[in-house]
Amino acid sequence: MTRKADVVVIGGGVIGTAVAYYLSKRGKKVMVTERYDHASGASGSCDQMIILQSKNPGIHLKLALASGEMYQTLARELEYDIEYHNRGGMILIENESELKIMEDFVARQKQIGLQVEILERKDAAKLQRGLAEHLVGSTYSPQDAHVNSIRLNLGFARAATKLGAEILLETEVTGIILKGDQVEGVETTQGPIHAPVVINAAGAWAPQIGRMVGLDIPIKPRRGQIIITEPVPPYVTGDVLSAQYIVAKYNPDLIKNSESRAIQLGVGLALSQTEKGNILIGATREFVGYDVKTTREGIKEILKNATRLVPGLKEINFIRTMGGLRPYTPDGLPLLGPVKGLEGFIMAAGHEGDGIALAPVTGKIIADLVMDGKTFMDVEALNPNRFAPGS
Ligand SMILES: Cc1cc2nc3c(=O)[nH]c(=O)nc-3n(C[C@H](O)[C@H](O)[C@H](O)COP(=O)(O)OP(=O)(O)OC[C@H]3O[C@@H](n4cnc5c(N)ncnc54)[C@H](O)[C@@H]3O)c2cc1C
Repeated sequence: MTRKADVVVIGGGVIGTAVAYYLSKRGKKVMVTERYDHASGASGSCDQMIILQSKNPGIHLKLALASGEMYQTLARELEYDIEYHNRGGMILIENESELKIMEDFVARQKQIGLQVEILERKDAAKLQRGLAEHLVGSTYSPQDAHVNSIRLNLGFARAATKLGAEILLETEVTGIILKGDQVEGVETTQGPIHAPVVINAAGAWAPQIGRMVGLDIPIKPRRGQIIITEPVPPYVTGDVLSAQYIVAKYNPDLIKNSESRAIQLGVGLALSQTEKGNILIGATREFVGYDVKTTREGIKEILKNATRLVPGLKEINFIRTMGGLRPYTPDGLPLLGPVKGLEGFIMAAGHEGDGIALAPVTGKIIADLVMDGKTFMDVEALNPNRFAPGS
């Protein structure tokens, strides 16, 4: 059977399904090809934070602010409970040198328009129980929120389907159909799909799709290991990170040169609690190829770090662990938009640890670019061609 669509989206994670939803809303006939199942990539093995204050001041934070705004009405729009809660967030600060870094970070974030402040330890302790005595304080933003990433993935898929999109599960893309430099569709394990626009939303696997058309896409899988506790009564207020998390996220070189095993594993605290009461404790940041296994050492270091910062966690049992692959890019920004020299081939990948937070705005930007050739904000810094030699 020959299938036809206006747009084929490769990858059924939060990014692919968000893109499908916003394009379907604008009247396009969309087919999403997912080689496994809903939320089978990073979108189903991650934390749940829509944390704005971890974003670099600049386009990164602007994207997060726009997405944060969209989240406020998203559940209603999707007609699906995505377990969205706006309960604020904090970044724990352990010493004076971290305090200096965070003061500068916060000052620059405020200039972009984020509501964020520095709290002394005693005020931080009023917001989050169980904090370690040695902390010097924290940041706090009332704009941080969280969402159930699997329900978000399903919510976008359901809403897109209602608007006419088709989500083809167990359908792996094996090649891209080209006529000259024009994309004409994809080859899949379930037969070809013809479409003049193909969107690469394959997350950490986006480079494999790129290779099908001779592209060298600079995305690398960056493993995150995470711990899930037994359900407990409300314990974590909103999202809780550590300043060390910010350092691990933005300074992979610093990690390489450290002798501390926790730092080499990129361990930084990420703490939040699901609607059912399970606490998610993260995470590592490791370059180990496509291996999603959790390791004894990684889990041990995450626990050591978490209980050092929030000793109260020692009283709570953990019940399982999981690992996922963040799609890392060298400058920490996703690759969004058309690829030069390949008519109809569009990138929507590379969101590293921010894909849940940035899914709505990504979907909207890609839909705008496909429909109008422009969007509501300047996205030149996200241009997928920015890493090409000579650019
Ligand atoms: C431990 C951890 C914690 C995180 N915490 C947060 C957080 O708190 N907040 C946040 O914003 N982000 C967080 N992230 C990051 C977030 O999970 C990712 O940025 C996001 O899920 C990426 O979504 P995606 O759709 O691009 O990729 P994925 O969800 O990985 O989806 C890509 C899909 O493409 C499919 N695919 C691959 N190749 C093919 C092919 N050839 N044909 C068809 N389909 C294919 C895969 O099966 C997969 O389902 C975290 C990540 C991890 C690992």
